[in-house]
Amino acid sequence: MTFQHLGLSADLLRAVTEQGYTEPTPIQQAAIPAILKGQDILASAQTGTGKTAGFTLPLLQRLSAKTAGKGDRSPRALILTPTRELAAQVGDSVKTYGKYLSLRATVIYGGVGIEPQIQTLRRGVDILVATPGRLLDHLGQKTLDLSQVEILVLDECDRMLDMGFIHDIRKILAKLPQARQTLMFSATFSKAIQQLANTLLDSPSLIEV
Ligand code: AMP
Repeated sequence: MTFQHLGLSADLLRAVTEQGYTEPTPIQQAAIPAILKGQDILASAQTGTGKTAGFTLPLLQRLSAKTAGKGDRSPRALILTPTRELAAQVGDSVKTYGKYLSLRATVIYGGVGIEPQIQTLRRGVDILVATPGRLLDHLGQKTLDLSQVEILVLDECDRMLDMGFIHDIRKILAKLPQARQTLMFSATFSKAIQQLANTLLDSPSLIEV
């Protein structure tokens, strides 16, 4: 099995090859085709399995297949992570894999000044990686419009629930379009995760690796 077999575009394959990856990991083999087809997924995957490329590569492909409208560029993909370290890491992956595409990505988290983030959002962004608390601050200040989001990723969902982010997540979900693709990643499938999945996902493809 190679990355070519998964249906990724030449621009993405080039970035993947530059990373030195020769073979997709099991989560990538399962997740990439499902996400490219537009399916919702619920995936159990620990850190280190290659899950980040597993959702980032097909997300980039889906967004680049259709160009954004002129003028305002509010985010078309939103990736929520529990911590700023993870947000930064995911943001780096988005930039690495998307280097041959003309999509703009930015990372937003708390503990740093909000003003530069507001400026960046104002200039337009296609892919937003964020932690829930700071994202809500932006929503409260009306410096962010989530009405154009086509793809939502909840990364390390179990950690987000453990950290008490469920109310923040629900408030964010209320600002998103109903018609969207949703991808949930969690190391474990607890009852709380399954309940959240039941309310968020539409006929999801289940992936356990
Ligand atoms: P993750 O589980 O997403 O945190 O990824 C763990 C590490 O695996 C990262 O350092 C990636 O750069 C690397 N990685 C992801 N996909 C592959 C692949 N197909 N082959 C080799 N390394 C990979």
